Amino acid sequence: MILRLLILLFLSLNNFILVGQNLPKNIIFLIGDGMGVNYVAASFFDDENNPYRNFKSIGLVNTTSSDRLITDSGAAATVLATGHRTVNRYISIDSAGNRLKTLFQFAKEKGKSVGIVSTSSVTHATPAAFYAHTDNRGRETDIAFQLAESDVDVIIGGGTQFFLSDIIGGSRKDDINVIHKMENKSYKWLNSFDYKTIVDADKVLCLMEKNGLKPASERINTLGDFTKAAIDNLKSNENGFVLMVEGSQIDWAGHENKQDYLLSEMRDFNYAITEALNFAHEDGNTLIVITADHETGGMAITGGNLDGKNQKLGFVSKSHTAGFVPVLSYGPSEDKFRGILENYEIGQNLILLIDPTSQF
Ligand SMILES: [Zn+2]
Repeated sequence: MILRLLILLFLSLNNFILVGQNLPKNIIFLIGDGMGVNYVAASFFDDENNPYRNFKSIGLVNTTSSDRLITDSGAAATVLATGHRTVNRYISIDSAGNRLKTLFQFAKEKGKSVGIVSTSSVTHATPAAFYAHTDNRGRETDIAFQLAESDVDVIIGGGTQFFLSDIIGGSRKDDINVIHKMENKSYKWLNSFDYKTIVDADKVLCLMEKNGLKPASERINTLGDFTKAAIDNLKSNENGFVLMVEGSQIDWAGHENKQDYLLSEMRDFNYAITEALNFAHEDGNTLIVITADHETGGMAITGGNLDGKNQKLGFVSKSHTAGFVPVLSYGPSEDKFRGILENYEIGQNLILLIDPTSQF
């Protein structure tokens, strides 16, 4: 009897703790690949519609991997998607090769829908870490196969070649047509953006290019359009959703040290943040977390007018750096992302907001 009472007491306490944590129903996780603190500063001056002032919870993130001060995109994505640091090039496996459970897997266990929007191939390191496990981020055809097995509900980006055999213009060495495979699993397949079709679909695979998408400056639809379509599809799940949006080419602009490319990719990413904020304001139970996987190029603002116009951006590297990246958050439990954070704390906090019983 006493034992029973103790168990009941424990269960109600446990419930109280869970409720007290203010768990968000939905999470929109926006990753600006390569977006160091100065990228946000440059975009703040460049884009009069930048959304950054909406955020009161702000932090700085140490982006190291488990074996290098300077991370690659594989380890950098893994730590955000799983809460565990790993070695460079690995995707959601630990340094010993064990599979790591991802934020998307936790969300699916809770009956939530999950989605990916990226301006790279959807099999690129950052999106891959949310649904695939491999010791080589470069194996994008394997990653495409894993995507078909992963039950991601909404997929918007590029990378058709990794889904199709080389005989029909893809880069697969086998004869598996992964797009057909996914159509057979009731995915709606699209090779161009169509808002209504995406919103109305049960599951959707929208791959708009052979590899990455066109740069924002050459594209009709913005990352904001893709993000809104994904949200409007996913929000029909009454258990909630987790959406990962990546501004992939911010990093590419950094590697190339190209100022105009960098600023227009940041504008494109800002549209996605604005769409996320519009939804979160209206919904009231959505957490937005914006961060980067690492800094690229060691970028600094080295000149410009007093009002921030005609900026001149300088770079000290063509690679990633160990510079801090920003984290900005809005919504239920946004305070968990304030201060100086290790990158694994971002992944762990997100997972704990989906399943507070998770162990790290
Ligand atoms: Zn990079």
